[in-house]
Amino acid sequence: MRRNIVILGIIISTIAVVMILIGIGGTIQAENALFANHLNSNTYQQQVNTYATVGGFGIIFLIIGIPLTLIGLVLKSKEQKQISSTRRCPKCGREIPFDAVVCPYCQYDFK
Ligand SMILES: [Zn+2]
Repeated sequence: MRRNIVILGIIISTIAVVMILIGIGGTIQAENALFANHLNSNTYQQQVNTYATVGGFGIIFLIIGIPLTLIGLVLKSKEQKQISSTRRCPKCGREIPFDAVVCPYCQYDFK
């Protein structure tokens, strides 16, 4: 589950970077075509708008993707910490602190 959040975040971030690159690359290409008189200014404007939209969505994806990755990593490390600092009560089978002397749920004495 935690790993899925990390993977989802990385996928969204990767798509975001690709979209931003397409946006920037397309804008530069359109600009070059305009200067070389391969495009009239209307077509140029249309292309720039399209690429700006793609790039804009890319930035939104990046804003979602990076925090999602970080949240996933934090949750994962927290979960791992929790696993290593707890153990199971032999009587009631619940997760208890690793250094507990008495089970907080069933009062089982470990001594
Ligand atoms: Zn117990």
